[in-house]
Amino acid sequence: MSTTDLSFTSPSARPPEAGLGPRGGPSAVLRGRGVVMTPVLELRGVHKTYRLGEHVVPALRGVDLALQAGEMLALTGPSGSGKSTLLNLAGLIDRPDAGEVRLRGDVVTGIGETQATLIRRDAIGFVFQTFNLVPVMTVADNVDYPLFLTGRPVAERRERVAQMLQAVGLAEHAKHRPDALSGGQRQRVAIARALVKRPTLVIADEPTASLDSHTADQVLDLMREQGHAQGVAFLIATHDARLLRRCDRVIALLDGQIIDPQKESSNELAMA
Ligand code: ADP
Repeated sequence: MSTTDLSFTSPSARPPEAGLGPRGGPSAVLRGRGVVMTPVLELRGVHKTYRLGEHVVPALRGVDLALQAGEMLALTGPSGSGKSTLLNLAGLIDRPDAGEVRLRGDVVTGIGETQATLIRRDAIGFVFQTFNLVPVMTVADNVDYPLFLTGRPVAERRERVAQMLQAVGLAEHAKHRPDALSGGQRQRVAIARALVKRPTLVIADEPTASLDSHTADQVLDLMREQGHAQGVAFLIATHDARLLRRCDRVIALLDGQIIDPQKESSNELAMA
């Protein structure tokens, strides 16, 4: 796709499943006998530096990352290591100074703000630590909102919202306001809201930080189950050890760089 081609973001042109290419053709590349899938999200040599007056803060320093459809990837690292910066780049909220961001194989670095908004609307779901539900809207209306933005027919929206609320176990709360729900239930609404548009990528920022252990486990199981069922890739920034254990893969950032686990373990061995 050229960077001005909006077909990627048009609902009717979107592939029915994550992992298919933007033009409707399969993105799997046949190499020999193996099938290599185009990653849902790819970062190549990404750099991001903030400038505050005379201060130069390198937030990301040459990050490479590939995330596959259906994969749940945890991004960990101490405060200030670059996690939020990376999420912002993956969610097309910000752009790198150097390097490339690709979604389903398409370079999205350098696209315009309108196109980035449309891609976010159609292909990316967001889940936040504090749920970010609209308090004056019912649970069903909160989940419906992303579909409303895409202009889908009312009947289809109703059906999808009902299915999604069923899937997250909140069908009986459809008409309630978020403040009538527990924290875990609110996060399940937020997950339903993120998944209802059938995105290719869900970006989650500390999604379990406000939840007790039992509830966090339930929310994580739900994300896994729904993500795997829909082939959605999850990129999750977290400090939560409970979450790290349940993800398919964990990547650690330190000072804007991904720590190579092999190097780390050989360093640990060398120091032992
Ligand atoms: P994390 O999410 O791991 O805590 P961040 O991505 O927020 O890390 O921050 C990485 C580095 O970039 C930190 O040194 C932080 O102070 C700096 N930083 C982040 N956002 C900005 C900004 N908008 N302006 C200036 N510096 C920033």
